[in-house]
Amino acid sequence: MGVPGARPVRFSKGAICEQSMAKSRKMSDNARKMNPKGLKPPLAVEIEIGSDCNRRCPYCPNSSFERPERGAMEDTLFLGILKQLSDLNYEGRISYHFFNEPLLSPSLSRFVALTRDILPRSRIEIFTNGTLLNQEKLRELLDLGVHKFTVTRHIGSDLAEFEDAYARLSESDKGKIIYYSHQDLIFTNRGGLVQGFGSFKVTPPLDRPCFVPISTSVITVKGNVLPCFQDFLQRNVMGNVQEQHFGDIWASQKYIDFRNRLREGKRAAHSVCSECDYILVVS
Ligand code: SF4
Repeated sequence: MGVPGARPVRFSKGAICEQSMAKSRKMSDNARKMNPKGLKPPLAVEIEIGSDCNRRCPYCPNSSFERPERGAMEDTLFLGILKQLSDLNYEGRISYHFFNEPLLSPSLSRFVALTRDILPRSRIEIFTNGTLLNQEKLRELLDLGVHKFTVTRHIGSDLAEFEDAYARLSESDKGKIIYYSHQDLIFTNRGGLVQGFGSFKVTPPLDRPCFVPISTSVITVKGNVLPCFQDFLQRNVMGNVQEQHFGDIWASQKYIDFRNRLREGKRAAHSVCSECDYILVVS
């Protein structure tokens, strides 16, 4: 399905190798057989399309820890993820970040166009620090079908270019953008990695339910599936979509047990969770 007004951004045929498509077909067969428990996919899948961020904010682990994976997501991997989600008739939110700035990726527009084509009922949201969101890029991404932007002006940032681009938008397009200052953010300790910024003023380990793993799944730049966006160091990998279908990973006993423990408030059972101070009911 095309997007009205969208630029014709497409993969070249050569980029989709036959080996990858054969692997996806095999995974489709698996997907059809999977899910005997009738599990619904997560509400949001966050796909890390590149590992880099152009900021080093003191409240982010990027300021003091090395990323476990570096680089850009391969085209074939991104396409495989969309295909796997399509097998599940995925209709939830797709975004392109973990601890990266998605606008640093030269693939972003192409990936947005592919998402629109392969997952036409998904909701595309871009979370960005806004530093690269100029008038041309904003227009291009809106025309490609991005439903929503969440732009955060982080500490020490000047977003004059974005603010000028925003001012020129129609009221309808302005309605697709949420613009925060870092002062409006709810800070967490990022699974215990960042101290001194937590907004909740609680001390882990907590005996409280957490529904993040039920609502959201993260797929890293190399295909690891994580149950939570706080897991910067990737301590709780549930599987890898290059080896298993996402639906099989989501329906695995390991992932089900993880979700159930967090639903029951058993945070101490898992590293990251045992140190985490996040207490919102929804993510
Ligand atoms: S307890 Fe914290 S680290 Fe664990 S799943 Fe919830 S938000 Fe993530």
